[in-house]
Amino acid sequence: MKKEMISVGIPKALLYHNYHVLWEHFFYELGVELVYSKASDKEILEMGKKYAIDETCLSLKIYLGHIAYLVDKVDYILVPRICSLKRFEKTCTNFYALYDIVKNLFKNKIIHYNIDADNRINEKKAFIKMGKSLGFSKSLSTHAYMKAKRITKRNLKHKLIKQNRLLESKKIKILLAGHAYNIHDKLIGGIVAKVLKNMDVEIIYSDIYDYREAKERYKEISPSLYWTYNQDIINAILYYREKIDGIILLTSFPCGPDSLVNEMCLRKIKEPMINLIIDELSSEIGLETRVESFIDIIKARLKQNE
Ligand code: SF4
Repeated sequence: MKKEMISVGIPKALLYHNYHVLWEHFFYELGVELVYSKASDKEILEMGKKYAIDETCLSLKIYLGHIAYLVDKVDYILVPRICSLKRFEKTCTNFYALYDIVKNLFKNKIIHYNIDADNRINEKKAFIKMGKSLGFSKSLSTHAYMKAKRITKRNLKHKLIKQNRLLESKKIKILLAGHAYNIHDKLIGGIVAKVLKNMDVEIIYSDIYDYREAKERYKEISPSLYWTYNQDIINAILYYREKIDGIILLTSFPCGPDSLVNEMCLRKIKEPMINLIIDELSSEIGLETRVESFIDIIKARLKQNE
């Protein structure tokens, strides 16, 4: 029997957390079936570790686990290659290499798009090319991308309105600052979020901020910073700094860009801040203790200022 729908596997890790709304609506418009991996858990991490070399950051190890989970369930797996989103800016080298890493480790067919602003390949061009590679026309692929982009913008607006409402809360407000794929991953940010929620703290996430208002704020800390995703984190910190009570910088080990940028933030930003570095051996109890102590210090500070 002829198979009617192409199925594309979406690993719920790394750039999924930045682009899942765009992906979902683009493929929906094309009539492509999407199959998602499950949320990160110990099993996913163990699978990822089998494929990763020791020096790989925790976020990428988790990502490889998600790929392994999907391998025998779909026709294709989506693995984007995002080198530069703006001219003279960079993402992380892992995002350059993602396609090749997955291609070399797994036998699946990969569907990918390549964004490289330095070589004048923007997101729109990349998505149209991806649509065409699946056999769809240029006009259908363009329509799917434009519609998905509109929905993504609307979605971000709603998220920002919702988050801004939390800023009016009387509870202690903590900015959970880091890459979207770390702060929203169950094995990384999820552990910290659980502790904060148990302590009745309002969590503000750094991947949601008013981009139009704050997109250049990172220059106050480092005018020459060229890692786009780290610019975003600093923009969000500076956007929220006066509206929150403290900042938790969250990093997965070992991360080159974060190790430099977080150090800079700790030195130059005066608001209460801790840097949590999570690796595969981090104990939940150890993390809980650090987060609880940080919140206790903030509570004492607020009491002093009453
Ligand atoms: S920026 Fe850091 S955490 Fe993200 S993929 Fe690169 S090394 Fe890993």
